[in-house]
Amino acid sequence: MNSDQHGKGLEIKLPIEIEQYERKIYDLKQLIEISKGLNSTLDYNILIDSILLTCMGQMQLLKAGIFTKKEISHDLFVLHRNYKGFEIDHSLEYGIPVDSALVRFLESGGRCYEMSEILKMMGDDPSLETFKIIDPCLIVPLKGKGRLNGIIILGERINTSKFLESEKEFLLNIASLAGIAIQNAYLFELATTDMMTGLKIHHFFQNSLMEERERALANKTPLSLIMMDIDHFKNFNDSYGHLCGDQVLINVARLTMDNIRQLDLAARYGGEEFIILLPNTEITEARAVAERIRKSIEGARVECGQNALGVTVSLGVAQFDPERDMSNLNLIERADKAMYLSKEGGRNRISVLT
Ligand code: GH3
Ligand code: MG
Ligand code: MG
Repeated sequence: MNSDQHGKGLEIKLPIEIEQYERKIYDLKQLIEISKGLNSTLDYNILIDSILLTCMGQMQLLKAGIFTKKEISHDLFVLHRNYKGFEIDHSLEYGIPVDSALVRFLESGGRCYEMSEILKMMGDDPSLETFKIIDPCLIVPLKGKGRLNGIIILGERINTSKFLESEKEFLLNIASLAGIAIQNAYLFELATTDMMTGLKIHHFFQNSLMEERERALANKTPLSLIMMDIDHFKNFNDSYGHLCGDQVLINVARLTMDNIRQLDLAARYGGEEFIILLPNTEITEARAVAERIRKSIEGARVECGQNALGVTVSLGVAQFDPERDMSNLNLIERADKAMYLSKEGGRNRISVLT
């Protein structure tokens, strides 16, 4: 071989290798950025959104979705609201049982599957029914500690090209980062949520109030607080038993959630006391929200055994005052005082302290 031929050989080989390395470096850089993004929030909904958008952006997709368990003890993986682009019939649950053949199959394999592959391997297994309806192109298992935490489904690509093996590998890397982030968000949710009512716990509320006070101060926006206490709650326990008392708490919490916005925060302040934080809300609007909650609780009945129990609540409303409220305590005390005025005034009512 003369030096000329040798040179030519190198000329052809080197750029391809360099291109491959450059591609690898680019992919790794992307994964670092994705990891930073996924670790920047513990908010479950924001996280799911960010995973979907990452997959869609990286792979040039029109549709993506994630099946996850709604609760740790839940026995189905569900699509819930975690999808973009797929046409979903909201009257269907789209559940995949955790003990199904499909879940066992995805748990045992360490790779992505095209829908056609899964159909070939599992034939007419009933657990494939959901996938047959939704018809995804690629299925990516979300695994953590060897267990399936969820399933990413991807739809067709903008340019209709097939997924390359290197892209499937890249998706598996995204999925393992996403799996860890989902697990963290899930544990955070678990640690900050009151298990009985599903509302946030006291400590989480105090933190949120601190943050919202700072935000209100910086943006010069209003911030209001509602304190709420169940009337004669002790009677429910004494007359119908603690389980009925618990059922009353669960119902009051649900009716409260039904009457507030997503950005409001409802927490269980103490045993049968609740607190609601309303960002960007003047006291007159907060009063209207309190009245809506009061009315809907008054109008509902709590089914417990043979009994249908009527429940009422007393509420107190106060607005954040930057001049006076240097700490959480001042504002909470005003809402609390207002709530006691409602108790003194005969219960099942609202008082406002300015
Ligand atoms: P008022 O109208 O003045 O608020 O009267 P009340 O009976 O609601 O108030 P009180 O503070 O005397 O009673 C609250 C009761 O709530 C006492 C406590 O045993 C009960 N309680 C607190 N947490 C729970 C819980 O998680 N489950 C049940 N079943 N009861 C609870
Ligand atoms: Mg009380
Ligand atoms: Mg009470």
